[in-house]
Amino acid sequence: MDNNYDVIIIGAGPAGLTAGVYAGRAGLKTAILEYEAPGGKMIKTDEICNYPGVDNVGGVDLSMKMFEHATAYGATYLYGEVTAIADEGEYKRITASGQEYFAHVVIVATGTNERTLGFSKDDELLGKGLSYCAVCDGAFFRDKDVVVIGGGNSALEESVYLTQFANKVDLVIRRDVFRGDESNQRQVLNNPKINVIRKHIPTDYVVKDGKIGGMQFENLETGEKTVIEAQGVFPYIGAIPATSFLQGHEGVLDEEGYMIVDAHLQTNIPGVFGAGDVIQKNLRQIVTATSDGAITAQNAFHFIQDLKSKA
Ligand code: NAP
Repeated sequence: MDNNYDVIIIGAGPAGLTAGVYAGRAGLKTAILEYEAPGGKMIKTDEICNYPGVDNVGGVDLSMKMFEHATAYGATYLYGEVTAIADEGEYKRITASGQEYFAHVVIVATGTNERTLGFSKDDELLGKGLSYCAVCDGAFFRDKDVVVIGGGNSALEESVYLTQFANKVDLVIRRDVFRGDESNQRQVLNNPKINVIRKHIPTDYVVKDGKIGGMQFENLETGEKTVIEAQGVFPYIGAIPATSFLQGHEGVLDEEGYMIVDAHLQTNIPGVFGAGDVIQKNLRQIVTATSDGAITAQNAFHFIQDLKSKA
């Protein structure tokens, strides 16, 4: 197998797939390495209402359209979970699921993973009432009571999504204000099935017959502990950048693990770029991810041209 590419894009969310479209159109030999279905967080999103030009599109639909667009321009889709990148000068060596690949340019577009609550039963209860994906698991909670934790856009959107199935959604936030957008807040506050509980933090799961039976909270004003009975718990308490494979590279990651990039979206390793939610930025959106994808692919093209002109 020929494992040499001009560009390897790690991650097939909107940033990675857009980089695939642009790199393919620029005539670069391009591969996208991913260990899940294409789409990243988009594929776990029911409706996308803020992507310009399409006022409402399903997350699965947009994922498949971007995937088909990238592969139509020649990007090869490879299965693999990246564990290491080594800088060998003209080529970077990428290790993924036991295979080695080589590329002049690497575009890291791995996004973020869900932050867990940090309780001892986080792993044990996964799939037993605990879920981080309302779109995947919401239908299991038809006519049941669920708790959503967090006040960001994910928690707000997923609370609304869950009301199609659930009997009741308790949305618990730790401040008295939300972090998410005004439009998402309005949808939550206007939905009669959602009960917002403010100034409470989760303290542990309530387990019943080996499954979620509810959630215990502490009132931050009074210190009082309360239990909300529920069959489902959906924590949406933020994200952790998926960058463990970059940890050995000095100066590439900030203290939270986000990639540090320059105005060209390049790291301090020439030829290693970052795109999408994984880089330091203020606004994590599909539209900003696709923008990063286009910029990194274009810069990859110039980087490779320079490399070849010096050879
Ligand atoms: P987020 O914006 O970081 O919000 C995390 C929420 O969880 C915050 O409300 C935070 O409270 C709360 N939280 C954190 N740790 C907690 C804990 N231990 N206990 C209880 N609550 C805790 O995360 P996100 O909603 O996953 O969104 C991630 C990024 O993607 C954001 O930039 C977001 O705007 C973007 N996004 C955008 C859309 C959209 O535009 N439609 C949709 C989804 C996500 P505090 O507010 O008190 O800190």
